[in-house]
Amino acid sequence: MHETRAPRFSDATLQALRRSEQIVALTGSGISAESGIPTFRGEDGLWKGYRAEELATAEGFRRDPGRVWEWYRWRMRMFRQANPNPGHQALARLEARAALTVVTQNIDGLHQRAGSRRVLELHGSVWRVKCLRPACRRGDAEAPDDPQGVPSCACGAPLRPDVVWFGEALPGDVLDGAAAAVSSCDVALVIGTSALVYPAAMLPVIALDAGAYVIELNPEPTPLTPRVHDSLRGRAGDLLPKLVDEALS
Ligand code: NAD
Ligand code: ZN
Repeated sequence: MHETRAPRFSDATLQALRRSEQIVALTGSGISAESGIPTFRGEDGLWKGYRAEELATAEGFRRDPGRVWEWYRWRMRMFRQANPNPGHQALARLEARAALTVVTQNIDGLHQRAGSRRVLELHGSVWRVKCLRPACRRGDAEAPDDPQGVPSCACGAPLRPDVVWFGEALPGDVLDGAAAAVSSCDVALVIGTSALVYPAAMLPVIALDAGAYVIELNPEPTPLTPRVHDSLRGRAGDLLPKLVDEALS
């Protein structure tokens, strides 16, 4: 019989976490994978044969808003049925003990449900809607529980999910907040992101340039891997609780 050995983290990584005054966790869809939410690039990233790039765009919405809303209804149901996993929970535990900001590309709200309070949502949230006309603020609201068809704004234009679609700019204030957080942190954890989607992918680079100790957690290597101080190869739900518990012990 073999006992499963806890992964050993390097002293440099544990010291960096213990000494840190500001930590930023940059998360991508990989952190929600163990909650049963597929990443777009994973094998089950398709919906009725469509790729996300055909649905999560302003053009896709103009072409067929009903189809895009049907996809988001499906995603909202999936997110609602999912639960935060030990990876999300470990970050919430860390925030209770250290100055941590979560900067996420996810739109599923699972960090908040796990108890994280300081969360910057770079790509918006499916739990909010906004008017299709950018100048109109009358539609800014929580998403209806079960939006039917294509919901409309008080001004008559269609409402859309308040998420950032391919080709769209990120909300400026959120991006500024994220850039400020990575510029002044001592440690950045880069978790479950392919480091390919810009501008989110530039945030770890800002952290590196500003002298932060950068730790990547991902089962696969990414373009960032050669540049980080420590690369932990594995699943977030497995590694993150162990790393946080060991650093806080
Ligand atoms: P991505 O580019 O962030 O890549 C996912 C990464 O997660 C990959 O590098 C993969 O190796 C890694 N990964 C897979 N399983 C993991 C695990 N258990 N632990 C740690 N890492 C793991 O994501 P994408 O799917 O290509 O998405 C692109 C865009 O779509 C992003 O904005 C993303 O946030 C959004 N999206 C969001 C959700 C969500 O809110 N849950 C789901 C799908 C896509
Ligand atoms: Zn409107």
